[in-house]
Amino acid sequence: MKQKGGGLTMVDVTIRGAGIFGLACAWACAKRGASVRVVDPHGVGAGSSGGIVGALAPHVPENWNEKKAFQFESLRMAEPFWAEVANVGGGDPGYARTGRLQPVADEAALGLAQARAISAADLWQGFAEWTLERGAQGWAPASPTGWVIRDTLTARLHPRNACEALARAVVALGGQIEAEAPDEGHVLWATGWRGLEALSEALARPVGNGVKGQAVLLRHDARNAPQLFVDGLHIVPHADGTVAIGSTSEREFSDPSSVDAQCDALLTRAREALPLLRDAEVLERWAGVRPRARSRAPMLGQHPVHEGAFIANGGFKIGFGMTPAVAEVMADLMLDGNDRIPVGFRVEASL
Ligand SMILES: Cc1cc2nc3c(=O)[nH]c(=O)nc-3n(C[C@H](O)[C@H](O)[C@H](O)COP(=O)(O)OP(=O)(O)OC[C@H]3O[C@@H](n4cnc5c(N)ncnc54)[C@H](O)[C@@H]3O)c2cc1C
Repeated sequence: MKQKGGGLTMVDVTIRGAGIFGLACAWACAKRGASVRVVDPHGVGAGSSGGIVGALAPHVPENWNEKKAFQFESLRMAEPFWAEVANVGGGDPGYARTGRLQPVADEAALGLAQARAISAADLWQGFAEWTLERGAQGWAPASPTGWVIRDTLTARLHPRNACEALARAVVALGGQIEAEAPDEGHVLWATGWRGLEALSEALARPVGNGVKGQAVLLRHDARNAPQLFVDGLHIVPHADGTVAIGSTSEREFSDPSSVDAQCDALLTRAREALPLLRDAEVLERWAGVRPRARSRAPMLGQHPVHEGAFIANGGFKIGFGMTPAVAEVMADLMLDGNDRIPVGFRVEASL
């Protein structure tokens, strides 16, 4: 870092937004030797990244396209990515590839699941499997056919802790995290749904919006068990003896952080789906707002309003799963001018 007059330091990269996208991009840049500064008036993990669910769940292994391939690559990168973050910064992101179980509703779903088992063998390149099992008991979803799908690609992390762990790792590499600071060097905007709203306003057309989600955290120790996907719910055991239940999906909302009866309904459904959770104590109810670009895919590349700046936004429902690959392509673009961003993830896809 170069010293400026008055004791301030010059940085190579300024990142606005200390959510998972901003922090991960800062980390990727810092690892390449850049001096980085993350600026967020609300602090680390103050937006949708500061939550409790943390399912890193793959797309179904069929109808492959560049978006699914990018996400697969990112899920494959996750284990070494988070291990290095933990190692360098000393924080624990709570990552583990514990897999996932899903019930099979009927004969048609069974046929589909069998076809997906075959395509996964090819598309997942031997890295992970999609298999069918019968007679799963205990920590398993009730299944009308008796069959459950197990995949070994799904992983979990602890969102809030992952943000803290990344922040620590960035600082360990000499990076700074500040509430206020001027733009210096390359500038990246990773400001979540508020950023998408500001963009829509500046461009006078909708390019993205916030989608609120509510989730519940229970005390129940199933730390090494697979997560469950049942009736649209993610039931995610964490390493600290908690289980997260996610999430609602609300396009209309007046308060971004309030919880209400929809959160209770989530809990009721989870307890019906997995009676083991019936008496589990509620530790937290949490709400956040997901950044959804108009394309529904991440929005990466040159910033369409701030000249010379970059944008990393639109993580929507799978931001954590996309994080390692997003960080790498953004560092490639900003530091090396190497543009590897898939067409569907470009800013233009939402304009
Ligand atoms: C209930 C719920 C459950 C979810 N579950 C999952 C899941 O299981 N798996 C998954 O992968 N994803 C999940 N997501 C989605 C995931 O949380 C998001 O995709 C991800 O957090 C987006 O990260 P981000 O860094 O882009 O945005 P954010 O985390 O919102 O960060 C944006 C940051 O920008 C800051 N900011 C805003 N304006 C400015 C400004 N002008 N200057 C500087 N800083 C600014 C904010 O303070 C904030 O800290 C869930 C989301 C919710 C709400």
